[in-house]
Amino acid sequence: MTQPASPTPALPYPALHASHSGIWLCGSDGVSRAIGKGEAIGCVAETPHILLNAPLMGQRLGYPDLSGLDLLELFAFIHPAQFVVPTPVGLAKVLGLEPPEREADIAAFYRLAASHLLAGLQAGHWPEREGAWSSAQALYRLRWPWAGEVSKRLKKPDEKERWLFSKLEEWEEETPRPAPRTVTMDENATLAQLGKLTGEGSEERAGQKRYAAAVSGIFSPRRVKGTPNMLLAEAGTGIGKTLGYLAPASLWSAKAEGAVWISTFTKALQRQLDRETRRIYPDEETFRKKVVVRKGRENYLCLLNLEDALQGGFTGRAAILAHLVARWAVYSKDGDMIGGDLPGWLPTLFRRNGATALTDRRGECVYAGCPHYRKCFIEKSARASQQADIVIANHALVMVNAARGTLGREQNAPTRLIFDEGHHLFDAADSMFATRLSGQEAIEIRRWVIGPESRNRGRRRGLAARLADLASYDDEGGRAIESARHAAEAMPGDGWLQRLAESEPSGPIEALLGEVRHVVFARDESQSADAGYGLETELTAIEGPMIDAVAGAAGAIDALLKPLVRLGKRIEHLIEESPDWMDGPARARMEGALSSLGWRCDTLSGWLALLSRIGGPADPDFVDWMMIERFEGREYDIGICRHWLDPTIPVTEVVTKPAHGLMITSATLKGGGDWETARARSGAVHLNQAVQEFEVPSPFNYAKQAKVIIVTDIKRGDMAALAGAYARLIEASGGGTLGLFTAIRRLRTVYARIADRMAQNGLPIYAQHVDPIDTGTLVDIFRDDPKASLLGTDALRDGVDVPGNSLRLVVMESVPWPRPNILHKARRLAGGGSAYDDRIIRARLAQAFGRIIRRADDHGHFIILSSAFPSRLLSAFPDGTPVERMPLDRALAEIKEAKSKTVQYGLSPDTSFGHDSAQGSSI
Ligand code: SF4
Repeated sequence: MTQPASPTPALPYPALHASHSGIWLCGSDGVSRAIGKGEAIGCVAETPHILLNAPLMGQRLGYPDLSGLDLLELFAFIHPAQFVVPTPVGLAKVLGLEPPEREADIAAFYRLAASHLLAGLQAGHWPEREGAWSSAQALYRLRWPWAGEVSKRLKKPDEKERWLFSKLEEWEEETPRPAPRTVTMDENATLAQLGKLTGEGSEERAGQKRYAAAVSGIFSPRRVKGTPNMLLAEAGTGIGKTLGYLAPASLWSAKAEGAVWISTFTKALQRQLDRETRRIYPDEETFRKKVVVRKGRENYLCLLNLEDALQGGFTGRAAILAHLVARWAVYSKDGDMIGGDLPGWLPTLFRRNGATALTDRRGECVYAGCPHYRKCFIEKSARASQQADIVIANHALVMVNAARGTLGREQNAPTRLIFDEGHHLFDAADSMFATRLSGQEAIEIRRWVIGPESRNRGRRRGLAARLADLASYDDEGGRAIESARHAAEAMPGDGWLQRLAESEPSGPIEALLGEVRHVVFARDESQSADAGYGLETELTAIEGPMIDAVAGAAGAIDALLKPLVRLGKRIEHLIEESPDWMDGPARARMEGALSSLGWRCDTLSGWLALLSRIGGPADPDFVDWMMIERFEGREYDIGICRHWLDPTIPVTEVVTKPAHGLMITSATLKGGGDWETARARSGAVHLNQAVQEFEVPSPFNYAKQAKVIIVTDIKRGDMAALAGAYARLIEASGGGTLGLFTAIRRLRTVYARIADRMAQNGLPIYAQHVDPIDTGTLVDIFRDDPKASLLGTDALRDGVDVPGNSLRLVVMESVPWPRPNILHKARRLAGGGSAYDDRIIRARLAQAFGRIIRRADDHGHFIILSSAFPSRLLSAFPDGTPVERMPLDRALAEIKEAKSKTVQYGLSPDTSFGHDSAQGSSI
């Protein structure tokens, strides 16, 4: 981090810090004092104050509009693309300052940190200097609170600074990679490669060797078309799974000159793979060529959207964010805005205002028609992955690519695949292959075809503008665009939810959604109507008005689909014909347009198939229902959903059967159950021949390292007792607690009851769904502070990888029963009733338990605050794990004792085990 050139003069601004334990103000004279909420709000309304994370502090103050001189914004300007845990201690660490010891000292620390950061602007060595002056000028015009202080410290460069877009590297066109060679794998060579990766003198791990040998089998030549070499492998935590499969994968890719795709579910594992693959290619340049992290396009910054935002497309705070993102873009490794090196906390500082409009979420890319096409982050990543040996991706993207390959839309569809965190494959497939005809989805298609109704943000343009050159060259194509534009007017437009609430739908799709809304409310028998949460009802016994509405909607969808299909054919024809004007970039643009057209046509066809079955017999392969998506009484979306009863059927067709070699692996592949679960959840049951199965247990000594306690005296539904139990457990453990909830409402209630008490005891507590902080950053904060505790729901159950002392206690409020929604009920019926439920719960317990012991020297307790915990579910925990039922007081005594032993063994609760320096995001 940049060090200031000289001692830093104090700034003339006061600073404010607010937490659950109090509010402190440090005046410009440097004197700190505790103040009340009313006074604090009065002060910040009058004078800009230095603070840290305005939305979070605003929440603590009960003043959501709080703004001021936010240190995190200043950090993002001065050190773009650098990691910092957004807390006073995190900032102190990264700036090399002494962290404040008491909360009362934090406001004064903010003033010091601000001076230190600003002094860095005048330091001799400041790697991110380029572009800062121009950016500061623009931010000054936008009245960014820090702009004055920043500008007066920056010297105008002698030469005009290069514009952001000229600084980015261009990608190179390369010839497509030929099909991989046929090679045979040798076990000794695999083990030798494993030895090379683990390093000389590293501990011999028999389980890891057996695992690597088993994985190498998937790379053997395929014997029968449509039947890949498939392996299901459960590898307990700690066996060294990633190197275990990277060894055969890297060996095969070197010998065969082909790519292996490794698919993960969580960002934490992607980051781990990014690190571990460096062992295969120690040379940085080779590594960058051979290993590519590939994500969905909606993750990356779209430079054209950014340019539009910088040139007046965004106003107010959103425009300030755009300039900070532009600073980051120059220094970013790959332009990944979600889970890459853009700090996860940055968009939340701007109340998420504008960040998504900077990505290409809606497929409006104009490809070679874009002036930044040759520098585009998305194109760069897609091209790099075509040449890479190891592609690190996620389950959804692998499925999309495989599906496109099946349809001939993707040249480099993956054929050697490793699905790590394979227990998530079923759920990823469930959302990937679902159909949803809803207002939000339909309005997106309308905007994609016509363009936005009001030009309030972004450069978004309709199909006619994006394909203007095609229309001028090809009359038939032009007519198809015009027909599509006309037909898209039947889709819902702005204000559709309001119109539906007032029973005044406009157009045939809104009319159908109005009927759906009416039927769902009429049939609701749950208590959710009053609670204000989502509602749903089966798509059955449909009568008169709805049948009419369905016919009208189907006609409108068909009227849109037909010209889009015609347009696709014209583009295909043009590509084949290759007229004089169609140079390489124009061809790429046409191919891009064809790909996004294909995607929209698939959606519209899916909607038609869904509507065509309404009123007829049910298709046993699917589960259909109508829904109103609501949160706290507010409606967000209305529509009809269709999911596969078994989503592994399409996975088998589009991913598994075309593959040559495929492994699905996880520490909890059997979900705490048996191989039958693994076969069913992976789709192996749909193959004609049996797949290989392999299992290696964890080397950890769970009998010594962990204990499960079922607390017997917390009455179900007694919120005061539940909150009290959480508070006492966190106190007994001295923080380091991950609290898992099955309902957001209960999480919020517990948090509201205990947050002040915990903060006053010096045990900060953070919560998903409460704190205005993204999940990845919450986990970073938790990991960084052994006294902190974190409360959350599903995403934290297996998205948290916190080895060491920061996580020593997991507390589950109740048995994680599945939500009895329509989809679940259908699968339960097909899957063996309560045995199906038990499999799901065991899997969830196994995942949650897996958070505690991440290393051989970890110790921890897993507490379930539910006396009704059924003994039949205990098999979810690893063999040998001690389990005991006891009242809360005894549990507290055990945890206190464990804490004292931890200190005695030299693992002070304040010990920092270091942190994963990559910025995370929600999982
Ligand atoms: S090529 Fe497409 S995604 Fe890339 S910057 Fe241009 S418009 Fe955005």
